[in-house]
Amino acid sequence: MPTTVGILGGGQLARMMALAGARLGLRVRVVDTAADACASQVAPLTCADYNDFDAISKFADGIDVVTFDFENVPADTAMFLASRVPVFPNPQALAVAQDRLEEKQLFQRLGMATPTFATVDSLEELQAGILTVGLPAILKTRRLGYDGKGQIRLRAEADADAAWRSLGGVPLILESLVPFDREISVISVRGRGGEFSTYALTENFHEHSILSASLSPAPRSEEIEDTAITFARRLAEDLDYVGVFALELFEHEGNLLVNEMAPRVHNSGHWTIEGAITSQFENHLRAVLGLPLGSTQALGTSVMLNWISEVPDALPLLAEPLGHWHDYGKTSRPGRKVGHATLNGSASEVSDALKRLSAGMKRPSQIDPVVAVLAPQLQ
Ligand code: AMP
Repeated sequence: MPTTVGILGGGQLARMMALAGARLGLRVRVVDTAADACASQVAPLTCADYNDFDAISKFADGIDVVTFDFENVPADTAMFLASRVPVFPNPQALAVAQDRLEEKQLFQRLGMATPTFATVDSLEELQAGILTVGLPAILKTRRLGYDGKGQIRLRAEADADAAWRSLGGVPLILESLVPFDREISVISVRGRGGEFSTYALTENFHEHSILSASLSPAPRSEEIEDTAITFARRLAEDLDYVGVFALELFEHEGNLLVNEMAPRVHNSGHWTIEGAITSQFENHLRAVLGLPLGSTQALGTSVMLNWISEVPDALPLLAEPLGHWHDYGKTSRPGRKVGHATLNGSASEVSDALKRLSAGMKRPSQIDPVVAVLAPQLQ
């Protein structure tokens, strides 16, 4: 009997997991609240509310292991599933990652540096928080925020009222705004037997708080690599984590501060499909199934470009011998992640290809910062 994997969430991450699973001979089924979730194009979909335990119970029938493509699965649903079928990562790990405050408290307990933060549940706490955290600062909802949503920056004490009016009413966290030199992520995988491995560090570029491009291996990362790996391993072991996860980090004056953890395969690891011996998607499936992990070793230099809102003309990228094209089969919508492309080769080959693409792009601002970061490596 082939093994069947159930995924809660049917977005592009589930879609790429299903494609990786198909190669391994796995059956993958997804559940999503949207009938047209893009993973349904490559895997059977159950359209159901995550709180509809009848539907979730039917979905779990005949499934060997359950995993997730997003972290905001209701905790009760994850627990309900875990009482019927193995669920990885475990629901407790998911719960910690759903709350920015609990997550940061855990990072601190584990000796992982974070931006200074304060919990905010009232305007008075916000005003007090500004004094302890300092300015500039960033006010975030503790739950359900992503891609810069549910966040407001504060430059002066006078900004507190407006920020509270805009976000107040739900639990919040105030963080110091780190004047980081760059944003780095580390994608790790931990198996059911505790085996642990990380991919090369990735440097990430954002536009309007959404990931626009990733470069891996992150240049000049020898000095921070050990710290990033130590943080990731410590966290994975403490949570008894199984599967792939991402740690998002700020590098500031040679130090690493942890921003957040994503308990799932991650956008900044898409380059691993073509740029590593085993992709994050395949390794996540291997981990949750208790199979041996594949090598995370990078194959040269990779740059991933995210397609946000709409997919551009594919031809210039397809004409690049090093180019790999991914269209998630979604309809266009502002701010939506609809596809990506990866260039993989030597640093100079990738840099040359990026320059050619940038010349013909509507938004060269997506590419030019990556070319600038690659330039010193080519001398
Ligand atoms: P997040 O949703 O926490 O990943 O935040 C989205 C983006 O906002 C990050 O990728 C950073 O570019 C920026 N950001 C978030 N928190 C901070 C912080 N404490 N200091 C500086 N920039 C931040």
